[in-house]
Amino acid sequence: MLQVIEPATETVLEQIPRAGAAEADAAVARAKAAHPGWRAIAPADRAKLLYELADLVESALDELALLEARNAGKPITDARGEMGMVLDTFRYYAGAPERMLGDTIPVGGGQAFTVREPLGVVALITPWNFPLTIAAWKMAPALAAGNTIVLKPAELTPLTALRFERLASEVLPPGVVNVVAGPGSTVGSRLVAHPDVAKVAFTGSTSVGRAIAASAAHTIKRVTLELGGKSANVIFADADLERAAAAAPTAVFGNAGQDCCARSRILVQRSAVERFMALLEPHVRAIVVGDPLDEDTQMGPLISASQRDAVASFVPAGAPVAFQGSVPCGPGYWFAPTVLYPVDRGARAVTEEIFGPVAVVIPFEDEAEAIEIANDTIYGLSGSVWTENGARALRVARAMETGVLSINTNTSVRVATPFGGFKQSGVGRELGPHALDAYSEVKSIYYATEG
Ligand code: NAD
Repeated sequence: MLQVIEPATETVLEQIPRAGAAEADAAVARAKAAHPGWRAIAPADRAKLLYELADLVESALDELALLEARNAGKPITDARGEMGMVLDTFRYYAGAPERMLGDTIPVGGGQAFTVREPLGVVALITPWNFPLTIAAWKMAPALAAGNTIVLKPAELTPLTALRFERLASEVLPPGVVNVVAGPGSTVGSRLVAHPDVAKVAFTGSTSVGRAIAASAAHTIKRVTLELGGKSANVIFADADLERAAAAAPTAVFGNAGQDCCARSRILVQRSAVERFMALLEPHVRAIVVGDPLDEDTQMGPLISASQRDAVASFVPAGAPVAFQGSVPCGPGYWFAPTVLYPVDRGARAVTEEIFGPVAVVIPFEDEAEAIEIANDTIYGLSGSVWTENGARALRVARAMETGVLSINTNTSVRVATPFGGFKQSGVGRELGPHALDAYSEVKSIYYATEG
């Protein structure tokens, strides 16, 4: 059995059967059998089924939010927001079957045009930090494009995915949505190697992403990879420093820092560092860390003891802690929001993804140095620029090697806009219209009219 732990109490929340390679094979077989029927459903009818599924998700929103808050240890207010995004994602893609357009192409002797075809069975492998949200980013466009799916949630957080599978079974034909809860080493790797799986859409660590890309190469599977990050929050001296300082904690400590988009490197123009630090400190100290089910909580525990140990290794005794928030006593995998300054640019906390509530502050002199430091990483997922100089904002935004970027705000993830990484943060895009391309193939058809 798989013991699902509640990170805020360190107790068992639920026990569920632990799937293995045999269950993965069975799920792929069900998805394969269901695919011809699902792809044959007329676009308008497929859209109707997906809208019905979205309505069911809406009716279960509170239940899903509570389950996610307890299982992932996230504040209930955040969990409600995330379930709202799950719903928005299903509604956005529900209309897509009728929007999957092709081109007509002028050629001699006939007519050429393109259509979009589904891939077949797609495997979706997801992490524990935003369990149902990231799964929805994959499931909704994959289903809309006419694929059937096998979802493998993270072992630590399978509960909302399993609840979703039951909801889906109320409206979609059997075998269209399959959830297999088990380890990455057995279920995950089996799905990646399976000859009947056409594509793997993976979100997780860069190291596992590398292994998946290598394994998928054997069967030339399509692969979308959403991997790690070490994003920069670049704050110029002419920015609205009060707003930038008020926003910076959410940008890095949201979801207890367990966020691939975390702006964990705060780059501040040297002439403004002192003032910025003075503005930042009270915001960090005021973060309410505690029971995820308390409406006032802003930050919950980390997901596990091993994640807490990994994060703690970035703040050893003698680390340059500028200031920290506070955490509750007693059970729970707590870690205080922590700001490190000054730091050596070669330090692990500066170069590696921490995936916990630890930020580093790095000064820069001018625009050129800000860009140089921001891009000095193997990652390229997210980032922000704060300045009142619009031309500079756009110059820096264009120069930063990241897939997603925001100006004078932290908000950069929206259902309608593409999301994904440059460099070793990944391959491909999710969300927006781009995700439909990632779950379909272009077919070119030529109809001869002469000769
Ligand atoms: P992880 O890579 O350890 O696991 C992710 C998923 O892959 C899990 O379901 C796991 O069971 C599975 N898995 C593990 N080994 C596998 C294998 N050999 N074959 C197939 N599947 C396997 O990541 P995690 O610890 O769950 O999540 C944290 C990481 O995810 C961080 O690095 C974070 O940056 C990244 N992340 C990225 C994004 C993004 O969109 N770019 C979003 C969230 C998290």
